[in-house]
Amino acid sequence: MKTYQPLPVSFTHGEGAYLFDSTGERYLDALSGVAVCGLGHAHPAVSAAICTQAQRLLHTSNLYRIGLQEELANELCRIAAMERVFFSNSGAEANEAALKLARLYGHRKNIETPQVIVTEGSFHGRTLATLTATGNRKIQAGFEPLVPGFLRAPYDDMDAVRTIAANSPEVVAVLVEPILGEGGVCIPSENYLGDLRQLCDEHSWLLMLDEIQTGMGRTGHWFAHQDTGIQPDVMTLAKGLGNGVPIGACLARGAAADVFQPGNHGSTFGGNPLSASAALAVLRTIEKDRLVERAAELGKLMLAQFEQRLGGLDRVISIRGKGLMIGIELDCACSELMQQALQRKLLINVTAGSVVRLLPPLILSDAQANDICSTVCELIENFPGQAA
Ligand SMILES: *Cc1c(COP(=O)(O)O)cnc(C)c1O
Repeated sequence: MKTYQPLPVSFTHGEGAYLFDSTGERYLDALSGVAVCGLGHAHPAVSAAICTQAQRLLHTSNLYRIGLQEELANELCRIAAMERVFFSNSGAEANEAALKLARLYGHRKNIETPQVIVTEGSFHGRTLATLTATGNRKIQAGFEPLVPGFLRAPYDDMDAVRTIAANSPEVVAVLVEPILGEGGVCIPSENYLGDLRQLCDEHSWLLMLDEIQTGMGRTGHWFAHQDTGIQPDVMTLAKGLGNGVPIGACLARGAAADVFQPGNHGSTFGGNPLSASAALAVLRTIEKDRLVERAAELGKLMLAQFEQRLGGLDRVISIRGKGLMIGIELDCACSELMQQALQRKLLINVTAGSVVRLLPPLILSDAQANDICSTVCELIENFPGQAA
């Protein structure tokens, strides 16, 4: 179906931070399939795990115990300080699990029409519930009736959340991205998550963080909220978790960990041996190669270069980022930059109309990081206009 408008290129194979098209042309990937391939392409540890598992066992269903799924759950709980995990096949499904969990949590407290607070500018997926949670009219338009049970506040606006708290006794949870991804790499004020945590504690609401884009080392922490010292009740993951093998996860702790009981939720494929083996290889490689620390270090290096070369330009409104999640906001729509970068054999993204978004793989070399910076700077310096 005509759901996408792909750029005129198709890749046949990849290696590390590079992709190759059918003519043998090489492209530097500063997008990682939208924050998915954090270990780059054809990573030997991930490929080996998938190959080995494919020769052994792909799928059994959740009617039986799955050792690899249990192992992965234990590892995720260890690095995230959470207690239980539900596995899905995508980010939207991980958020669906979180939203169902929040409603059930509310019903168990005798709240009949539980409400979840979400924010403007957010992105949570394309299913009916998650597009309703998403704070972007373009994603919702035409799909009414939307799902009831959501209340919306501007992003990074505690007063708005406090006003909702004072007027809405049926709130059960807040679902928020620690950094807006699709919304334009927006980093909230330092106290935002901490203040949300406190408000959630005061009202016995669940704090649910959508770390689907920010998780798995992307921001220079395993999870973006770890920069703030707070702990969520529920956290969702997907994208970077499987390095391209579809897998999502909804993690919970405390009261949230015991909400789902047998029969309350499920998935045929979720957490099957193949996807669990891939995610385990991803997690262990990130840990072994210290890629979380590396993302933090590379991110600083790249931000400094962008600030130095682009900081003084009138057309550049702001340069922001954490780790290898970087946004450069221009004062005009600039989606043509994706095409111009492609001509320069560089893969970038433009989101929210005017924000150049970079999500390169965590395995990037210093030289590759410098290549990305110099090409992006040239493109922005010469924009609008013909690419060199
Ligand atoms: C990509 C994304 C999703 C949706 O994930 P899918 O796997 O496409 O369903 C949800 N939330 C955030 C923050 C995302 O970046």
